Amino acid sequence: MVKITVDYDKCEGAECGECADVCPMEVLVIEGDTLVIKNKGECSLCEVCMDVCPDEAIKIEDD
Ligand code: SF4
Repeated sequence: MVKITVDYDKCEGAECGECADVCPMEVLVIEGDTLVIKNKGECSLCEVCMDVCPDEAIKIEDD
């Protein structure tokens, strides 16, 4: 099962949205001003979100 952690002290939310733009599974979504995690079970562990995040706010782990 994937574990997705967003550090909201670092995340810029809707100001950025890079991860939501690239997530192929629509797991990461901007709602209002905030990044939210949806359908975690759909995550393919591609780690593209981690790669594009300018704030190193996302951690993807396979546990
Ligand atoms: S690892 Fe890939 S599928 Fe999972 S949340 Fe990040 S971009 Fe989406």
